[in-house]
Amino acid sequence: MDERYLLPCPCGRQVPVTRRQAGETVRCACGELLEVPTLLRLRSLPRAAEPAPAAPSGAAWGLRHRLWLLGTVIFVLAAVPIVVLVLRFPSPPQKVSPPPEQIRERYRAYSAVETWVRWHQLKRSDVNAIFVHDQLGFKEAVRAHDELSFKFQLGIAVLSLFCALGVALVIAGSLKKPPGP
Ligand SMILES: [Zn+2]
Repeated sequence: MDERYLLPCPCGRQVPVTRRQAGETVRCACGELLEVPTLLRLRSLPRAAEPAPAAPSGAAWGLRHRLWLLGTVIFVLAAVPIVVLVLRFPSPPQKVSPPPEQIRERYRAYSAVETWVRWHQLKRSDVNAIFVHDQLGFKEAVRAHDELSFKFQLGIAVLSLFCALGVALVIAGSLKKPPGP
């Protein structure tokens, strides 16, 4: 590593120069052209702390980038479960008669008492009783679906707020002026 010396500028800044630049001119950040002294005189200048700070990239990774990173992380963390919730959104119960195999399966699962009750209902042609029974089942299914879909909607709404927060942070990061001269 070439040793670096600090060349003072009238503006107050100290411009780091190397021995190789001896005799050349360098431009200070203020615009002033400075003559780098000869090797002999260069040695009397204060030495720059090793190694010269690597550009302002460290400083650039500042608030701006942190806001972008934070906003993106929040957005992704909220967007992924939203997609899952939307894909798995409960479908409403449908008032269609189940396929015959399913009905047969259901009747096969009846206990002796249930079969007896059903048989009695049918015997008395008490269609109303069967209808009311099915109606209650359907209403129950609708109520359960409403409750579940409300929870899904609530989840999506809350997660959307976090998504918006993430976007706001990214925008805020973009509006922030980059650190520079
Ligand atoms: Zn200067």
